[in-house]
Amino acid sequence: MEQLRVRLEHLSRSYGSYRTLKGCYYFPGFELVVTRVQSDPFAPPSWIRLESELPSSWPQRWLVTADRRRALCDFLSRQLVQACAQSVLGNRGSGNSGHISTVKPGQAVLERTAVTLADQRLQLRLWLGLPARGRVPLPDQATEMFFEELPRIFSSTLEVDRAALEAHLQSVETACALRSQLRAHKLVAFIADGSILPRESGVSDQPLGGAIPCQSPLALRVSLETSQGPITGLGISEGLTLIVGGGYHGKSTLLRAIQSGVVDHIPGDGRERVVTRRDACKVRAEDGRAVYRVDLSAFIDQLPDGTVTTNFTTANASGATSQAASIQEALELGVGLLLFDEDTSAANLMSRDAVMRALVPTNCEPITPLSERVDSLVSQLGVSLILVAGSSSAFLPLANRVIGMQAYQPSDLTQAARQLLVPLPAHGSVPVWAAPGQAVVQRTLPLDWLSRHSRGEGLQVKVAAPNRLRVGSTELDLSALEQLSESGQLAALASLLEWLAPRLGPPLRQLMGELDQSLDVVGLVNLLASNHPGLARRRLLELGAALNRLHLPSGLKGRHKIETDPTVIFHARSGH
Ligand code: ADP
Ligand code: MG
Repeated sequence: MEQLRVRLEHLSRSYGSYRTLKGCYYFPGFELVVTRVQSDPFAPPSWIRLESELPSSWPQRWLVTADRRRALCDFLSRQLVQACAQSVLGNRGSGNSGHISTVKPGQAVLERTAVTLADQRLQLRLWLGLPARGRVPLPDQATEMFFEELPRIFSSTLEVDRAALEAHLQSVETACALRSQLRAHKLVAFIADGSILPRESGVSDQPLGGAIPCQSPLALRVSLETSQGPITGLGISEGLTLIVGGGYHGKSTLLRAIQSGVVDHIPGDGRERVVTRRDACKVRAEDGRAVYRVDLSAFIDQLPDGTVTTNFTTANASGATSQAASIQEALELGVGLLLFDEDTSAANLMSRDAVMRALVPTNCEPITPLSERVDSLVSQLGVSLILVAGSSSAFLPLANRVIGMQAYQPSDLTQAARQLLVPLPAHGSVPVWAAPGQAVVQRTLPLDWLSRHSRGEGLQVKVAAPNRLRVGSTELDLSALEQLSESGQLAALASLLEWLAPRLGPPLRQLMGELDQSLDVVGLVNLLASNHPGLARRRLLELGAALNRLHLPSGLKGRHKIETDPTVIFHARSGH
């Protein structure tokens, strides 16, 4: 501690002299580590870490499982936000001078680098804007930040309301218990009775005030066991589920709650007992996205200009093409539940009606709609689907169940739909999907370019804007990845892409699987060997999706030979 004081007293009038602060200092109750020093007051703030043993008064039961530790750290990261708000004076000088900050967590309970636990040691990571006027250091202000504000932040973060913390742990544990039972009950999602599904607005993830709680209809009600006793709710089984109903009756709201159920939510969110298989993926049309060597032939074939679609590349896909590519990529990454909303789907990829079929002969239509592929997805690949389809009956004959939304409440319309049904239109032969390992097409991602790029000075990936990354010299738009819920996840994607670039080569699914396991064992901080204070862990589906959206900068095309990477791809072998 004294050493830090001395170093601050000896700062010169150059901002660069702050570099002498890098290092470790002992404070009463914690250690301070200055891990990265900013180059000037306008640059991103410096990184610091506060570290200590866990308070001895904290019971071991808070720490016994990985889920509890994640929930505990999540709780503390919320305390840390409050502690910063209460203890830090804020701007003192130019640029970021005087700020001590952390990222505000969203509604999900995630592993974040802001607060981590390693071998009973607690680590808090923060940004600290080393203060300066112009570029001249302000040692008095820095002293105030280090010796008054940081100790206050540390102690108030650890002053926990035990009841609130216990409730937080309990809530996460209940969600995990519910999710872990889905498979045994052949369910893909569960929405507990009383859940509040709608959000305050399109830009706020807070629950809508005064919303009507979701109540399961008897026919679709299931009961799952938890340490809190049985919990009843709407169970959505494997297979094809349709969500139908009038406009504004809550269909998309239900689907959005289901897609967010891959992560746990904080108590009071309204969705803390809404759980979905972790490998669920929302797939939407995404005009203009890049597609790289994807086999689209299951959905799009025989283009009028003769383009072959078994190995399809474009820098600018249409709605149907983009969505077909996203389905194929999701299958490649091992997704077990596909989610679609008619609001965000390409109509021509979803279905085609009988009159149109009569008017435009099948051999003049390159698109085989999803309605004709559902059967094989479910029966051959074992993939389940939940589809919001309020305007087309094309999926009804195939649906295992139909949920009707009326005034925000689900009802079971399965029988009613069956009574109305006309026989299935003839769809031609059913495609056969190649099993993993029997790939017909070999696929290469533009990864070779990435890994070359990164062997030199290292690939640079930066968060360019909300939902956008800058990868080397190209921009990557990730706004279609609806299941990303907070900025730290995007920052983590950027860091993971940098980390991954020199390691590319194995098939994507294998790579993602291995990476996920490593993250489970060592955590983000150790894997990336980084003290970045603002990363949040995300399942790796989005990392795969980001890689899939990369495209080669046009100048590089053709100049770099791309080696083939035998990534498994699902391919329709017959029947279009
Ligand atoms: P749909 O997709 O059927 O057209 P939405 O899901 O978009 O309908 O919902 C329409 C509106 O109703 C949205 O503004 C949404 O916030 C609101 N809403 C949805 N569910 C509820 C609910 N349970 N209680 C109150 N309002 C709700
Ligand atoms: Mg809708």
